Amino acid sequence: MKSLRFAGYSKVEIEDVPEPRPTADQVVIDIKVSALCGSEMGVFRSPEGRHGNPGHEFVGEVVDPNGHPEFAVGDRVGAHVIVGCGTCPHCQEGNHVFCPNMLPSGYAHAEYIALSARHCLRVPDGMDWDTGVMVAGDAMGVAYHLTRRVGLQAHDTVAVFGCGPVGLGAVLLWSFLGARVIGVDMSAYRRDLALKLGAWRTVAAGKHGTVDRLRKLTGGAGPDTCLECSGNPLAIEAAFDAVRKGGKVGIVGEQPLASFSPSGHLIHKELSVFGAWYFRLSEFAAMVELCSRGLKPRRVITHRFPLEEAQKGYDLMARQECGKVLFVQY
Ligand SMILES: [Zn+2]
Repeated sequence: MKSLRFAGYSKVEIEDVPEPRPTADQVVIDIKVSALCGSEMGVFRSPEGRHGNPGHEFVGEVVDPNGHPEFAVGDRVGAHVIVGCGTCPHCQEGNHVFCPNMLPSGYAHAEYIALSARHCLRVPDGMDWDTGVMVAGDAMGVAYHLTRRVGLQAHDTVAVFGCGPVGLGAVLLWSFLGARVIGVDMSAYRRDLALKLGAWRTVAAGKHGTVDRLRKLTGGAGPDTCLECSGNPLAIEAAFDAVRKGGKVGIVGEQPLASFSPSGHLIHKELSVFGAWYFRLSEFAAMVELCSRGLKPRRVITHRFPLEEAQKGYDLMARQECGKVLFVQY
């Protein structure tokens, strides 16, 4: 089957690999759409090529239920790809992402994938593939889980730092739920997109005075909540500086180190800080429900390419000239 390979130095190519052979707990899925996640860009840029790809957001049809009676050929599914053992206390609580034996799965930019039947999410009848891949993937899933962690209040003003796919998902979701959203990004293209998805204002990041501009837009106090979705250490500092006293900071932008002041930020401003990772299997139903009430996650999608033209998608992502990019195989 066709599968994307990261060839090193920002190049991808199609390689021919054997079709996946499911283990006893897995079903085989014919992938219809996979989505490019910002978390792939580090591997994409690295000099070392590697077999396969880190693609992990997809929807498709079950082609081999592999003895799992709850599935039939043709069932439409998405995936929660952080597969836990299913029996430890974390898994029992639905926190598969904390499982000590957790296995993330990748290789989703391919024709087929084998995935644990327990982690297949049923795409409802009538939901198109594009919406399906957004709610069964990181762009809405991470934004939704972050929202649950932080706790949204509809009258809040929230600054979203980093308007890549996850940040745009947060802009869309918080705007839809009634908050007043300020999109912060270096890319003019992405600031524009944030406005189209419901942001009230945008602020150019990286320029002198980002924090001042956020304060000015909020009557001097600062946003009630800052969401860090960029993975840039300067953005974390700006988020802690800008947020109002007693406000909240939510962080999903991956970064190993960043600085903040326990005295200045946590003690004297009494900030509440929340990290969030991926989403929970149990949150999928709630996202589907929001779609039925009018949330349109597919608005975050800006580009669709056949898998063979995936290079174009990664190049756009590297230039920050896109929202969500899909690779389509139907
Ligand atoms: Zn477990």
